[in-house]
Amino acid sequence: MDVSPAVNRVLVVGGGITGSVLSLALAQKGVEVVLVELRETWTGMGHGITLQGNALKAFRDVGILDELMTRGVPFDHLRLKAAHDGSVIAELPTPHTGGDDLPSTMGALRSDLADILTAAVHAAGVDVRLGTTVTAIDDTVVEGRAGVTVTLADGTTERVDLVVGADGIRSQTRAMIGIEQGPRPVGMGIWRVVAKRPAAMDCAEVYYGGPKFKAGYSPISDDLCYAYLLEENLDRSFVGEGPKGGLLKERSAGYGGIWGEIRESLTDDTLVNYQWIEAIMLDEPWFRGRTIVVGDAAHACPPLIAQGAAMCAEDAVVLAEMLTAPGADVETVLPAFMERRLPRVTMVLGNSLQLAEWEMHPDSPDADPGRIMGQTLNALCAPA
Ligand SMILES: Cc1cc2nc3c(=O)[nH]c(=O)nc-3n(C[C@H](O)[C@H](O)[C@H](O)COP(=O)(O)OP(=O)(O)OC[C@H]3O[C@@H](n4cnc5c(N)ncnc54)[C@H](O)[C@@H]3O)c2cc1C
Repeated sequence: MDVSPAVNRVLVVGGGITGSVLSLALAQKGVEVVLVELRETWTGMGHGITLQGNALKAFRDVGILDELMTRGVPFDHLRLKAAHDGSVIAELPTPHTGGDDLPSTMGALRSDLADILTAAVHAAGVDVRLGTTVTAIDDTVVEGRAGVTVTLADGTTERVDLVVGADGIRSQTRAMIGIEQGPRPVGMGIWRVVAKRPAAMDCAEVYYGGPKFKAGYSPISDDLCYAYLLEENLDRSFVGEGPKGGLLKERSAGYGGIWGEIRESLTDDTLVNYQWIEAIMLDEPWFRGRTIVVGDAAHACPPLIAQGAAMCAEDAVVLAEMLTAPGADVETVLPAFMERRLPRVTMVLGNSLQLAEWEMHPDSPDADPGRIMGQTLNALCAPA
């Protein structure tokens, strides 16, 4: 009986959450991994992130959760507040999507998560290639063995059993294997800022009834929080263009409570991020030959349920588990992976889009965001 795994050597394109967790999971199971990342400097950057229990479970599976717990802020409930004065409307326990032994949610700095992941990837012996990309992917049989010959930007080639495109919502890998679908704007934009964490902030809070769609924040470290404001699309997305604190202060007028305090702290020099929210859900299959795309490259949802990173990390852990099962082969694993992942990510994406729609059109007669949110998180308590 053949008990060899489906892959001995894999090339992963992209070192975000998906590519890092996948590289780590494969390397820990004895697979040789080459990780190709476009950025020259592979350090963490960006804002805060809200991680649900099922994301934490995936991080525990690859051994980085303990370190993350020392930096992030776990909590088990969500508080709803009135926008104008921050008075409490309700406090809701949140389902433990990663199991009862894990917090239901954790707020973290994206840079903390990225730094922990990159350190672990290096420590696991992954061959990390920075500042480069893939320029050609050819499925070929060499000496009777199926595989992929991958050309990198410097002209060198790598021979691997599988290529995984984890290069995000604008995936080049996806285009290179002939999948033409791309992301679409959902119709709303999000402002994000990292601010000083007020002492009273002990969990995520969401403000309703204000002039914009929704505002909220999460604690992300002992002294920092991450605040956001969802509103209609401005005429363009200006990700990464520099400080725009003054503009966010203007746009967030009308919010009181702790959000109001954060608003007061904004100055023209405060670095904020504004971007359009986009979504994509690839038709199946997400693979062509021996190349598959996963994470945001295959499915990206609006952050209304804070499940994007969780779906990415789950993809990575599940794919690594299936590829390294004794006797597995790539031709069988890729469709089986699709079958396992598709219902779960389709449900999350569909429900996130529904919530976005109701934020934009709150007068819809059937609007019931609490029900959809609860149904989604309860469904996610089932294993990935
Ligand atoms: C505004 C916003 C808020 C969000 N908030 C949350 C939240 O609170 N909780 C949550 O769970 N999720 C959230 N998400 C979703 C989450 O951030 C994403 O689902 C997740 O980060 C995607 O990870 P990824 O690794 O698949 O893609 P990415 O993070 O996009 O990583 C892709 C990597 O590939 C690299 N790359 C790109 N092109 C190439 C190339 N051609 N060659 C080599 N490398 C390449 C990039 O440099 C990058 O490092 C949010 C998303 C947005 C947009």
